Amino acid sequence: MRDTLLLNADGNPLSAAPLSTLTWQESIKLIWLDRINVLEWHEDWQVHSPTITMTVPSVMMVREFVKRRTNTSFSRSNVYCRDNYICQYCKQMFSYKELTLDHVIPKSKGGKTEWTNIVTACKKCNNQKGNSIIKPYKPPHKPDFHQLYKSKNHVHIEHPVWYKYINAELEEKRA
Ligand SMILES: [Zn+2]
Repeated sequence: MRDTLLLNADGNPLSAAPLSTLTWQESIKLIWLDRINVLEWHEDWQVHSPTITMTVPSVMMVREFVKRRTNTSFSRSNVYCRDNYICQYCKQMFSYKELTLDHVIPKSKGGKTEWTNIVTACKKCNNQKGNSIIKPYKPPHKPDFHQLYKSKNHVHIEHPVWYKYINAELEEKRA
């Protein structure tokens, strides 16, 4: 169970996958270290030590901007994420194991291994395509933090109050 959402100084979660969250013990420790501001509390949840009572924070923000830990660099799993695990030729969804990376413009024709030339393809489509050039379902692009963020299908929101700190697209997904 994760209890506290941790935001960067710009108001976005510190990391997307996994979502930057802390246990209540970790979050209270950060309060004592005086490194963060608390934005929301779990109003109905207090913890007790022999000498003090503390309300558990629900959303906290670091005071100084931290360079994002979320890896938005080019990688197999980030390409699958950008494409939502959907083969860009047959438009079917597949598991990680059944997918491959496909060069839209084949390597043999000078295609580069980069965001704008690589799409997610199932093994069957990739084999059938061979060295031909087929227009993918969506033109490949370099995703930014938010695009990868909303593509992470496994983002799990423990507490509804967190939604307002997570981007609008994700909010729509919930509705
Ligand atoms: Zn396919």
